[in-house]
Amino acid sequence: LNSQLSGLPTTIFTVMSALAARHDAINLGQGFPDTEGPADLIEAAAAALRDGRNQYPPLTGVPELRAAVARANARFYDLAIDPATEVIVTSGATEALAASLMALLDPGDEVVVLEPLYDTYVPMIRALGAIPRPVRLTPPHWSLPRAALEAAFGPRTKALLLNSPMNPTGKVFTPDELAVIAGLVARHDAYALCDEVYEHLTFGARHVPLMTLPGMRGRCLRIGSAGKSFSLTGWKVGYITAPAALAGCVAKAHQLLTFTTPPNLQRAVAMGLDKDTDYFAALAADMRGKRDLLSDGLRGVGFDVLPCDGSYFVVADIRPTGFAGDDAAFCRAMTERCRVTAIPVSAFYSTEGAPDHLVRFAFCKREDVLAEAVARLRAGL
Ligand code: PMP
Ligand code: GLN
Repeated sequence: LNSQLSGLPTTIFTVMSALAARHDAINLGQGFPDTEGPADLIEAAAAALRDGRNQYPPLTGVPELRAAVARANARFYDLAIDPATEVIVTSGATEALAASLMALLDPGDEVVVLEPLYDTYVPMIRALGAIPRPVRLTPPHWSLPRAALEAAFGPRTKALLLNSPMNPTGKVFTPDELAVIAGLVARHDAYALCDEVYEHLTFGARHVPLMTLPGMRGRCLRIGSAGKSFSLTGWKVGYITAPAALAGCVAKAHQLLTFTTPPNLQRAVAMGLDKDTDYFAALAADMRGKRDLLSDGLRGVGFDVLPCDGSYFVVADIRPTGFAGDDAAFCRAMTERCRVTAIPVSAFYSTEGAPDHLVRFAFCKREDVLAEAVARLRAGL
């Protein structure tokens, strides 16, 4: 058995969702909306299913979706992208990450990653025989330690992996931070793998793709997800924008992993990406209201709530609640006593000595559900 995979524990999202179900708890752990995505997209996918769009589509994605991804890059970021050679459609951002890492890495290559981090990054890097070089951001603002970042780059650095807006922190990297990152990537002749699945979920702060910075167009692979942009997480449709030379190699990895992604869902997502700007503004405004509702509620029951400028998630400091135990024990106890579930932030670290006083709450839920969660915490904490 592969030594990395056989030792890999079941993901914290599945573990906590199962615990929530066992206790009939409100699940503010795993990040998925509890409402359906846009009805017109669902209808378009159903129509495509009925219309006989059910055989293998082209390997890199249906032309309509590749064209829509290129148009979205132009509309939102002023990026000129060739849909024929610079877009690859994947089965979710998860596959996009795996395919991109496969395309970039040889055994022994190093990848600079920023902690806390999404749970697929490090095991995937290691499974490819490559070496993660973690750099820790510092709460509460998750500031970028510039000296440590610089020290993490070296002669074996092949890539940096950047997630902005960031899960679990809710951080949106600033233009100054992006400029520092771009400088290091260029100086070390490296690539940047940019996980931007929350690109349309920002609350005031502007999301700037690293790819738009000077010198970065030819070095970045930019990943988006229909799951997040259209509240359809189960569809698993992702897309990569990258220069043709990189995209061509990613296509080879995609060929080995899944080969294609369901064509009916792709056609509906193409329609989604062409939605007017009001749709994207309303999605962010709705999520911002939920962030505020949950953040205020958590503060009201005794947590310190950290700043959040984007994503589905808000992080809370459990120390003011007086709980005697770490973040994992807290999440278990809160599920059992209050019937509300969250994710311990220590699960987003790959090395020893992670902070153990922070928990992540997902606010991508109906407002009555968030209010009920706060009421349960008020009664049970
Ligand atoms: N990256 C990040 C930061 C995520 O939070 C997620 C999960 N929501 C993914 C990637 C995976 O996205 P998908 O469901 O499209 O595979
Ligand atoms: N990305 C979501 C989260 O961070 C869930 C993904 C998953 O369950 N694998 O909660």
